[in-house]
Amino acid sequence: MGKVTGFLEFEREDRGYEPAAERIKHYREFVLPLPDDELRQQAARCMDCGVPYCHGTHRITGAPTGCPVNNQIPDWNDLIYRGQWDEAARNLHSTNNFPEVTGRVCPAPCEASCTLNIDENPVTIKTIECAIADRAIAQGLQPEKAAHKTGKRVAVVGSGPAGLACAQQLARAGHEVHVYERWAKAGGLMRYGIPDFKMEKVHIDRRVAQMEAEGVTFHYNAHVGVTVPAEKLVKEYDAVALTGGSEKGRDLAVPGRDLKGIHFAMDFLPQQNRRISGEAQGDVSPILATGKKVVVIGGGDTGSDCIGTSIRQGAVSVVNLEVMPQPPDRENKDLTWPNWPLKLRSSSSHEEGASRDFAVVTTKFSGENGQVKKLHCARADAKFQPTPGTEFTIDADLVLLAMGFVHPVHEGMLKSLDLKFDQRGNVSADTNAYQTSLPKVFAAGDMRRGQSLVVWAIREGRQCAHAIDKSLMGSTTLPR
Ligand SMILES: Cc1cc2nc3c(=O)[nH]c(=O)nc-3n(C[C@H](O)[C@H](O)[C@H](O)COP(=O)(O)OP(=O)(O)OC[C@H]3O[C@@H](n4cnc5c(N)ncnc54)[C@H](O)[C@@H]3O)c2cc1C
Repeated sequence: MGKVTGFLEFEREDRGYEPAAERIKHYREFVLPLPDDELRQQAARCMDCGVPYCHGTHRITGAPTGCPVNNQIPDWNDLIYRGQWDEAARNLHSTNNFPEVTGRVCPAPCEASCTLNIDENPVTIKTIECAIADRAIAQGLQPEKAAHKTGKRVAVVGSGPAGLACAQQLARAGHEVHVYERWAKAGGLMRYGIPDFKMEKVHIDRRVAQMEAEGVTFHYNAHVGVTVPAEKLVKEYDAVALTGGSEKGRDLAVPGRDLKGIHFAMDFLPQQNRRISGEAQGDVSPILATGKKVVVIGGGDTGSDCIGTSIRQGAVSVVNLEVMPQPPDRENKDLTWPNWPLKLRSSSSHEEGASRDFAVVTTKFSGENGQVKKLHCARADAKFQPTPGTEFTIDADLVLLAMGFVHPVHEGMLKSLDLKFDQRGNVSADTNAYQTSLPKVFAAGDMRRGQSLVVWAIREGRQCAHAIDKSLMGSTTLPR
């Protein structure tokens, strides 16, 4: 522990944002890093409390709290306080393959479970994590090549955070790793879902280059189950890891759904990310919010990203609807801490000019000449059904459905392998062996867990690599 009295001496300070009026003119990241001396003070606030809930998994009950990848947060806070940046980076990378990503987009369950959060003043863990990672990367990411090759070959299907973490760990264990990705570039939802203003794609490109230098081979435009037979991979490789994400979007089956101007968020967001990177769009019509009244249905991360993107594209107005009731502004710490609390969260995109409404059910869309013009809504009752007498309408030219994902796409790869699904339609595999119903075939990330977070995908990818290495070699030194 750096400074025993740090938490008493220093107030919490965090990264600021470029003003909304400026940042909506571009798609670049707009978070302003803290200078080194302030980071040092912030790290000094860490109390190294006896039970560091931030570090993950409750030591007594085993319940998950804090960081899903078990980042050793008190240790690197101490190292930053002492100015030992290189050792902090080594420590951070020992638990997290992509801390520059989580340092940008993680909702930071670690901060929710920080002991100082009992007083609403958690250590700025995410900011410190991001600074450690960015500084290490600025000095040049070095490949960590395996000392010995095992002669085993592993295919990883999907290059989201789960697939990348799994592939990197397996390559470092000495296996020959091939990543099959149906899109033109690696990154999964980190590249095609999350907008550049939250995370620029250079962060993924650097990691891909590092992984290539570590021996990972990437096969792009390779749609397993469509252009590459899944059975071929199972036959030709010693193990196959399925990390294809949870891509089946939740639809809104109400009258008028087939009107023009109503789209899934994941038809809209990737177009903008591809526009920025200059990647070909393929055979799709452009979906743009420019000059339109936009309604985003769904109050999570995806909805928030649709808001920020619509505002940058020049929407006339953006309304965000959520079916759940408005959560409280503050949680009751006695009931929730150190767990992740239900409370009202406002993203930087919300602050850029969207209006929000809660407990709203959309019962119908209506339009003119085949184009959507109005949403017909009502207040949601306790069962999320429309309450009679509360009906109202909202004007809209563009409606973006951001209501989450139900499960992975079953058609193609999963059906051709005839894999078992769990009750929710995700690929069935436990978190010990990560093994599916087929020998040699493993699953991790959103494809196994259901829609989740980048940090959980990294955890699952790492744990799946551990399980694969153990099954191939009989034992493993890869961390879980
Ligand atoms: C718009 C949006 C914003 C988000 N924002 C955040 C955020 O701010 N913070 C956060 O923590 N989480 C966020 N998430 C969630 C997070 O991105 C996901 O939980 C995470 O990316 C899941 O990782 P994954 O590797 O399991 O799957 P994915 O990232 O979905 O990657 C799966 C990959 O597999 C490929 N694939 C699928 N099937 C095949 C096949 N048959 N053959 C070849 N390739 C295939 C896909 O093309 C894709 O590249 C967001 C999600 C969305 C949609």
